[in-house]
Amino acid sequence: MSNLLIRNVRPNGGTPTDILIRNGKIEAIGQNLQAEGVAVEDGLGHIAIPGLVEAHTHLDKSVWGMPWHENAKVATLRERIDFEREKRLEIGIDPHRQSMRQAIQLAANGASHIRSHVDIDTTHGLALMEGIIETREALDGVIDIEIVAFPQSGLVTRPGTVELLDKALSNGAEVLGGIDPCGIDRDPKGHLDAVFGLAEKHGKPIDIHLHEAGELGAFSMEMMFERIRALGMHGKVAISHAFALGAPDYLRVAGLIEQIAELDVRIVTTGSPSSTVPSIMRLKDAGVKVAAGCDGIRDTWGPWGQPDMMDRARILGMKNGLRRDVDLEHALYVCSTGGADVMDIAGYGLDVGCDADFTLLAGETLAHAVVEVAPRPLVVKRGRVIARNGVAEVAIP
Ligand SMILES: [Zn+2]
Repeated sequence: MSNLLIRNVRPNGGTPTDILIRNGKIEAIGQNLQAEGVAVEDGLGHIAIPGLVEAHTHLDKSVWGMPWHENAKVATLRERIDFEREKRLEIGIDPHRQSMRQAIQLAANGASHIRSHVDIDTTHGLALMEGIIETREALDGVIDIEIVAFPQSGLVTRPGTVELLDKALSNGAEVLGGIDPCGIDRDPKGHLDAVFGLAEKHGKPIDIHLHEAGELGAFSMEMMFERIRALGMHGKVAISHAFALGAPDYLRVAGLIEQIAELDVRIVTTGSPSSTVPSIMRLKDAGVKVAAGCDGIRDTWGPWGQPDMMDRARILGMKNGLRRDVDLEHALYVCSTGGADVMDIAGYGLDVGCDADFTLLAGETLAHAVVEVAPRPLVVKRGRVIARNGVAEVAIP
């Protein structure tokens, strides 16, 4: 919890001002602020925005900072899942070390919060999650990490997984995951009953991976809507990817979005270039809370991605065909405040009384900052400078 005075920054691209932080919170925003004995930083007229939010990644999977992982596989989704589960330790993917590398890089690139799905399966038990919890503790005051207990390998088809998820939710996971009820378990009722049953038992929210496209994904969504209505879980369920919302049938998608808005289901998108993705502008018009994430960064699944939510804002902008400045600003909103909306982060924002979690951006305007490929000039977490010009002030293992 630090005290800091930052001079000459432009909140959200507006007029230059100063920000005074005491005990990790924003105490005042105004011109020519004075504070005796408080460290001063010069913001050099850069834009300031609240911390970027990485709302969908997998901190337990990345090979970031390790020797290049040669990917020579042509594989189905199931084959990729099985390969990773069986080979990850042999490859040397230590969950604590690798999550430290990815999380610190995200922080150096301006992120203040992460929601990470972490594999829970009958091969590794809770060991991967324990590595991420170690990282969460080590990075207290650098970046906040929320854990989703994620049945990557399937749930009802792998006996023992439900019990492990139950244990994970009692031992540090804040959110329960799920995955393709039809495509992975091939038992949508069994999968969703197990997920909603566990979430209800623990009183925890759900964030389910739904890669299922078109009518199959729409069917799985409708089964989720039924359960949300029956259990009164409005505002407690997020759907990650939601590729079915990128289907070409405008009216069918409109019907789904209407129910998503009514049930306050949150959508987390990666803007995946190779998939049909939800339109962030259409969801905005419907009043749906939308966050974004980089998903897996350089892992056994694929070589792509950067641990950088500004990179993700550009991908969202390109995939959604955005051109107008106001729409680019929305891509940035999804990668920052949208994440806080979806994750219900308390104390988030760039206002007096909020936690002093923010990043400076290079650019004349917010839209310019989205397209400009440049390091973040300064990143502040709870009033402490944690990175300068893209370089973390925290040791990277
Ligand atoms: Zn994912």
